[in-house]
Amino acid sequence: MNLRNGREFLAIPGPTNVPDAVLQAMHRPAVDIYSGEMVDITDSCQADIGKIFGTEGRIYLYAANGHGAWEAALTNVLSRGETVLVLSSGRFATGWGEVAAVLGCHVKTLSGNWRTPVDPVAVEDYLRKDVAGRIKAVLVVQVDTASGVVNDIPAIRKAMDAAGHNALLMVDAIASLATMAFEMDAWGVDVAISGSQKGLMTPPGLSFVASGKRGAKVHAKANLRTYYWDWTERDGALYYKKFCGTTPVHLMFGLRKALDLLLEEGLENVVERHVVLADAVRRAVGVWSESQAISFNIVKPSARANSVTTVLLADEYDPKAIQEFCRTRLGVILGGGLGELSGKAFRIAHMGHLNAPMVLGTLGAVESALQALAIPHGSGGIQAATDWIGKCLAV
Ligand SMILES: *Cc1c(COP(=O)(O)O)cnc(C)c1O
Repeated sequence: MNLRNGREFLAIPGPTNVPDAVLQAMHRPAVDIYSGEMVDITDSCQADIGKIFGTEGRIYLYAANGHGAWEAALTNVLSRGETVLVLSSGRFATGWGEVAAVLGCHVKTLSGNWRTPVDPVAVEDYLRKDVAGRIKAVLVVQVDTASGVVNDIPAIRKAMDAAGHNALLMVDAIASLATMAFEMDAWGVDVAISGSQKGLMTPPGLSFVASGKRGAKVHAKANLRTYYWDWTERDGALYYKKFCGTTPVHLMFGLRKALDLLLEEGLENVVERHVVLADAVRRAVGVWSESQAISFNIVKPSARANSVTTVLLADEYDPKAIQEFCRTRLGVILGGGLGELSGKAFRIAHMGHLNAPMVLGTLGAVESALQALAIPHGSGGIQAATDWIGKCLAV
């Protein structure tokens, strides 16, 4: 027997659940890309993405996934042979660094580990030693989607300032934007990137790069610029250049609707909702972890992301069995362990268009799987999650 009839729950950290309203907004004929409507949608999305990044800087929209935004950001501010510093804390900043290396940059890595956030003191020490100012950009993720860590971006900015270093601070907010605070200008972030398919609840295929004044300044002399990603081309008056070709009209219809939903709810409420649902997940995982078989990958509670929780299993248990059981028997799709956590962890995503029953249902499925597969776990995880939600919403 299986219990997977009914709507499948997608609990992976991207692509995330697309609201019906967003799907419906996309279900219409294409329009002329030069029509007033399309131009207005493009302008208003640019402005609203700026609000969500917390910046008055320039916003560039790309018909590309997050990897495209990685390349777009790098090519617009760097020149061949320049050095970048990757602050690693899992899989994704390292991945961004790999793109930089292929583009012809020297890539240095401040190695972290997969269980703790980037240490700002280590960043300051590292940059102080770069007396010649060789490092032109520091690459970091706000949330590493593989480890489930959240890095303290303002603290990293302070560390750079304390070191008196003037590298650009470049932040990947793909797995965090619209799930937690991001204040590009207030935090002194020079270049930030994100994608459509995570907190922004839109199908994959769009990504965003925001550049402040310092990014714009170095852009003028960056020689890695290419025809397609180039900000200067896209800044021109010609609408056709905004996407360097045909506007991805349906994705833009969807994005417009998703931004409407987020802004109507209010960004603070969006963040608050993510905190409560993430805490519900953490409460359940906390109870399960009373056994030796299960633990949080991220050791320090305050460094656990509001968008994804990475759950470690002791060596004798197989996380893939939990994923497989949840998928084939219960209709819930969990994320797997990535990189060095492959075969050691599974991930529960809790970002984007989610309500309490979706999160509680996902947790219930995981707890049922632990039971069915005889994986030792503290009992009462679901109780802890429901108690928490009840407490947060008490009238
Ligand atoms: C998902 C993700 C990416 C990659 O995005 P794609 O759209 O898959 O290219 C990059 N960085 C982070 C932090 C992510 O979560």
